[in-house]
Amino acid sequence: MRHSTKKLNLAGERYGKLTVLRPAENISGRTAWLCRCDCGKMSEDC
Ligand SMILES: [Zn+2]
Repeated sequence: MRHSTKKLNLAGERYGKLTVLRPAENISGRTAWLCRCDCGKMSEDC
């Protein structure tokens, strides 16, 4: 099987209390995703 290089699109996905908004900057080759918590804060501030 070939390894897929297709970019993940997680925008709109929910993970528990977090809703994925959009991709943030790449951090060490990985895409960081901007998420918002149900309480209204960004995940990094929550
Ligand atoms: Zn929260």
